[in-house]
Amino acid sequence: MKEYREKSAQELKSLRESGKRLRTVLATVIQAVQPGISTKELDTIAEREIRAAGGIPIFKGYGSEWGKPFPASLCTSLNQEVVHGIPSEKRVLREGDLVKLDIGLRFEGMVTDMARTVAVGSVSAEAERLLRITRESLDFGIENIRAGAHLSDYARAVQGHAERNGYAVVRDLVGHGVGHELHEDPQVPNYFHAGIRDFAFTKGMVLALEPMINAGGLQVRIAPDGWTFVTNDGKLSAHFEDTIIVTESGTEIVTRG
Ligand code: MG
Repeated sequence: MKEYREKSAQELKSLRESGKRLRTVLATVIQAVQPGISTKELDTIAEREIRAAGGIPIFKGYGSEWGKPFPASLCTSLNQEVVHGIPSEKRVLREGDLVKLDIGLRFEGMVTDMARTVAVGSVSAEAERLLRITRESLDFGIENIRAGAHLSDYARAVQGHAERNGYAVVRDLVGHGVGHELHEDPQVPNYFHAGIRDFAFTKGMVLALEPMINAGGLQVRIAPDGWTFVTNDGKLSAHFEDTIIVTESGTEIVTRG
């Protein structure tokens, strides 16, 4: 985790452009989601669109400092996979799958990060519900952020909505500062307890907020590929992520139109 540095007005301007490009790229990838397409094909589209937009894929090669570079521009995680799934020509989407698409790019030096869970064709009512509650959890969390509000205001809103609906919030993975680098301080958990430092949000802070919500228990583990997080109980998981700038009165969501 890199140290957090304040972003200048010019950097925030570039960040907005970065977010605009990222959400346009992801919209194009989402349009290609259908039964029969492989996750590798989705990654190919993602990388092509990022570069066409003048961006640099930020996930590709991530982790090379510790000898484990992520091989793709897009994370594709299916069903019980939580995050960090590696695209493969062998993973072909099927009707009824939930696919989580996580993507990031650098533009004019500034990094944005976002994720969406997408239904492949028609999915079960349970999958549909998990998707909706996860999206709402992120939205309720964001509604509680403004300069002077605290992490706990965000985290309790996310956790409360998920748990009231019978779901569990993943604890092994958290949101983060973003902008100059993909992962900056502070860590932004999507749950709260007394052991967590309850920092205040400040104006101009740039954060990637990303609740991961499980239909079953909160436990996750890493698959043998060394990257993919999967639910321990094999039940479904969903993930939504947006990059935001904290303002005096709320937030500016740079990865939404
Ligand atoms: Mg992230």
